[in-house]
Amino acid sequence: MGFDPRNVQSNATRFSGREFRLRKGNDANPFRGGPEQLIFGIGNNVKNPELNDPQTPYPLESDDIAGVYIRVSPLSKESWSINSAIVQLFEGSPPTPIAGRRYDLPQGASIILQEDGSEKVYLRRPDPPRLEGIEVTQAIQTLDNAIPLVAGKATVARVYLSCYQAPGMTVRGILRAQRLGTLPVDVASIADTFLDAANAGNPNAMRKDMNLSLNFVLPAALLAEGPLSLSLDSLIDTATGTLLQVAFDSPSTVHFGASHPLRVRVLAVRYNQQVNPPPAPLSTFVATANDLQHLRSWLGRAYPVADVVWSSGTIDANNQGPFTAGVMNAQLAAIRAQDIAAGVDKRTHYYGMVADGGFFMRGLASGIPGQPDPSVVASGPTGSNSWGWDFDGSYGDWYGGHELGHTFGRFHLGSGCGETSDDPNYPYIFGQLANYDAGCVGIDVGDAALGIAIAAYPGTTWHDVMTYCNNQWLSDYTYHRIRTRLVAEDALPAAGPVLPHLPIEEVVASGRPDERVPEIPALEAKRAGRTLIHVVATVNLTRRQGKIEYVNPLSAGDASGLKPGSQVQIRVLSADERLLREYPVEVKLNSELGPEDDKEGLIDAALAVDPAARVVQLVIAGGIADTFRAAAQAPSGGVSSRVEVEKAAVHLSWQPGPTVDTKLTYTIQASTDGGQTWYTLGVGLTEPSIQIHKGQFEAGLEVRLRVLATDGFTQLVVASEKFTA
Ligand SMILES: [Zn+2]
Repeated sequence: MGFDPRNVQSNATRFSGREFRLRKGNDANPFRGGPEQLIFGIGNNVKNPELNDPQTPYPLESDDIAGVYIRVSPLSKESWSINSAIVQLFEGSPPTPIAGRRYDLPQGASIILQEDGSEKVYLRRPDPPRLEGIEVTQAIQTLDNAIPLVAGKATVARVYLSCYQAPGMTVRGILRAQRLGTLPVDVASIADTFLDAANAGNPNAMRKDMNLSLNFVLPAALLAEGPLSLSLDSLIDTATGTLLQVAFDSPSTVHFGASHPLRVRVLAVRYNQQVNPPPAPLSTFVATANDLQHLRSWLGRAYPVADVVWSSGTIDANNQGPFTAGVMNAQLAAIRAQDIAAGVDKRTHYYGMVADGGFFMRGLASGIPGQPDPSVVASGPTGSNSWGWDFDGSYGDWYGGHELGHTFGRFHLGSGCGETSDDPNYPYIFGQLANYDAGCVGIDVGDAALGIAIAAYPGTTWHDVMTYCNNQWLSDYTYHRIRTRLVAEDALPAAGPVLPHLPIEEVVASGRPDERVPEIPALEAKRAGRTLIHVVATVNLTRRQGKIEYVNPLSAGDASGLKPGSQVQIRVLSADERLLREYPVEVKLNSELGPEDDKEGLIDAALAVDPAARVVQLVIAGGIADTFRAAAQAPSGGVSSRVEVEKAAVHLSWQPGPTVDTKLTYTIQASTDGGQTWYTLGVGLTEPSIQIHKGQFEAGLEVRLRVLATDGFTQLVVASEKFTA
């Protein structure tokens, strides 16, 4: 009729400190209701018997805990002595009446209390601190370490200990870590922790707060690929300095898998905006170094990577603020294509950060690729707004983590926080990191350089980064899938084939004779059987509108795959408008479209075209949405350039030739490795000058600059310069 005593014993909330309570009187659920309660105390203070009232818990001297205190009482204040109960030492052994308030419990034995000869409760000697588990975590983890670890990624071992003796004790410890075939390494806990008896037996309560576990930051030497065995070597009661015995102290073994890096180039976007009405001057805004540092740090902490292969630069938006992220992404796509052609690893993702000082640019990725496709670009806002939960001074970090998540193929989850519901497989409710406290817990290893403390993110109050919810982190679901995509992208080739037939002609700049030796311009691009061009267009499929944003030749690379049946075609024509070829192209739809939004997206296509190509048409659903015509005059040499290096900026201007077609545009590139790799700082420029943010280069580095003039199909280096950052 009564209860299962084993449940009582294992139910920690009933074993709180020195006592637990059990209500009787409800046969179906003995823990509810009833006129009587039984109160059982554990331990006995020999020296101060007046403290033995279990309702006034008091820390016991460990050597006092030799017996078991047992009291049975009704709800009234009248106490019953243990004489009214019958005790069995072991189940099935003969009942033994207990006399007095003290009973010495033989080592290792349990007491079975039998009251009315029908209901039983097991009592034990107080436990030593008990090891509940060792959780080895990098960003998101379960108590049994089900989430795979990434070699080389910052790792924290959290040791959960139960202390059943109220109120608890403060401890520190040493963790012993051993890699196969090597000597063990001892690691000290980063801080003392108080083992609150209220949490005893409940590691999931401890997991919610870094302060409730004993934490160990594993040294980098232990994080190589392969297994690692961890055990608690020693535990010290910090109040007394005594070494504590630990119950259930068994080692844990975890496995570190290979790391596959996240490659990202982040561009701080500088833009002008008419904030105050004219004649007030334009205001200029740019993401700060702090914003970039936050994103870099966050990606390293939250994403399943040991390394963020990071580069950054500062570019000028080609549009005045406010502009959309779709337009920003068009510029990024044009820049990225030039960079890849100029030697940048083609597995690099591009992300633009737009400071919210002038306007709030809602972020988006131009596409959610189903297959590995690092060419998908994204951009988003940044600033210091906390949004009510992020108080580290920059929100561009997790915001960037969301948009970059799209570029790794991650969809919106449909958490109820406002984003669309595009991923039916997400396993947790409301976009949470877990359905229950026993599930995944996020951990942020922190960043001392940014003042970000190590923190635990409980799975039921934190949300996946692919939602619009507050408290964003990576769930194991997103973590695992981004890791899978990173592995696939890492296997892609780093560089495309170099097309020998379309070199960039190095027309080397001649400047003032006192500054450099004039070099000889080469004037003509070599021609071959095909020309590779890169076309970027913004499209609105709903309205069948679009705009060709950039047409540039590519000096190297692959043509994009075509999409037969696509709603959008790029038509390439000769100067006399003879159709040379029509290319069905992929539309990379904006990641943040709601069900009511126009279907807007980006065309970002490298096309191998006939050398006679001079005209590009954007065709949407059969209608011509926009036309690009090459300048009548191809770029030519006859160059001079001028560079002024100031403290914060480099002003570069050039004269592309004696006669210049105003339809020519310019691409500006910088190299800090002697010309092996070029990063694009400007594309589609219509004016022959640029002001380059100097702080984007490491001080002391020699920076080479080059200016390419293009009519869309051919390009020529019309100026080159160098300066020391
Ligand atoms: Zn999104």
